[in-house]
Amino acid sequence: MKDLWLKADQVIERARASGVLEPITTDVQWYSEQGIPFCLRTISHRKPGSKPDAEIDEDPFVHFDPTLLVTELGEKHHCLLNKYPVLDRHLLIVTREYEPQTYLLNRRDFYAAACGLKARDALVFYNSGSIAGASQSHKHLQLVGDLDAIPFSPLFDLLQSVAVHQLAQLSFEHRLIALPEQLFTEPNEAAQLLERYYLQFSDELNIRHVGEVVQDSYNLLLTRQWMMLIPRRQETVLGVSINALGFVGNLLVRNAEQLDNLKHYGLMRALKNL
Ligand code: AMP
Repeated sequence: MKDLWLKADQVIERARASGVLEPITTDVQWYSEQGIPFCLRTISHRKPGSKPDAEIDEDPFVHFDPTLLVTELGEKHHCLLNKYPVLDRHLLIVTREYEPQTYLLNRRDFYAAACGLKARDALVFYNSGSIAGASQSHKHLQLVGDLDAIPFSPLFDLLQSVAVHQLAQLSFEHRLIALPEQLFTEPNEAAQLLERYYLQFSDELNIRHVGEVVQDSYNLLLTRQWMMLIPRRQETVLGVSINALGFVGNLLVRNAEQLDNLKHYGLMRALKNL
């Protein structure tokens, strides 16, 4: 799977050339709040008529455009291009057969994610349902191949492995663990360990489930170095929808007014209230 990103780049090129890819362009502003870096994006252009959200009845991860298929990851997942990317090299890891986004992540899901991380260090994230910022109900993890997508990375660089951390700079509730080195050389072992931490942290954060059905919302973020789980109570703050990317410092707004409101309110304070 070393060539995952080579393949992804070729598929991106092809999808772009054929007009299947519909990137959302943004104005980017780096902003520091009490020494913590945030990347603030304001949408500047979205192709008129594109409907990335739940407005289309068909399941886009079953009836996907074949131009978007990058590869298979394990036996249970497709790796697709995000058709409406904001970030570069944004891939989706979707279950081949429908499973709800609100079901527990399982060993197979972590295996597919681990295969992605074996190929190269990247950011995997998961929005557990609409309250956590998901727009699609078919189970999908997301994989971003650009570590610049982690504005908070200076905070994570200092973590000591293998230990659970509570970072004082992050005022929102979270569980964060620094992972063992070389974990992703063996995706099976990685999947086993990640699933164990995920279930343990869910329990500690009171994210309840009955069988496979998870009753509370959360965001999960994962790199080769660490995994973080954040419980969620609401989707928006000041009218801005926040997904997992918010908790590593990426906020996406529709206009300058929303941006001003958030800055005025306090970005970390906003994250804490979610
Ligand atoms: P989320 O909004 O977190 O549920 O993530 C779903 C992702 O799927 C978003 O980033 C969308 O841009 C993307 N998406 C929506 N429709 C399609 C589609 N037809 N093909 C590929 N990606 C899609």
